Amino acid sequence: MHLQPTQPTVKGPADLFTGDVHFDVIAAGELPSRLRVNLVRFAPGARTAWHRHANGQTLHVAEGRGLVQARGGAVIAMRPGDTVYTPPGEWHWHGAAADHFMSHLAMWEALAEDQEGPEVVWGEHVSDEEYRAAIAGDAR
Ligand code: MN
Repeated sequence: MHLQPTQPTVKGPADLFTGDVHFDVIAAGELPSRLRVNLVRFAPGARTAWHRHANGQTLHVAEGRGLVQARGGAVIAMRPGDTVYTPPGEWHWHGAAADHFMSHLAMWEALAEDQEGPEVVWGEHVSDEEYRAAIAGDAR
């Protein structure tokens, strides 16, 4: 057993995120564990670009109000305590509501040794138009 060294908060790069997004690496397992956990903080209106995870991803909302949407799918409004699972290969984005911060834990597994990469495939940004439509579709 050992206490893990704390790593500095990382700013989400502008080519992958819209708005102000920061994350802390909470866990990066040593083999044979492929556990990955980040705490991600989104300012109001901030969101990821469209992307997909080779091994899927589980989000668990800690604070605030958030949105998540799969390509062609309905918007899911996320509240503290909510857990959302995105299966492997499904295009999606996640982020804060327009008028609230949101923090979530992002949990996934790194690629296995015999698995083709990349771990995450990134696409285009979620446009303001797409984001506004998502807010309008948030009936919760
Ligand atoms: Mn994701």
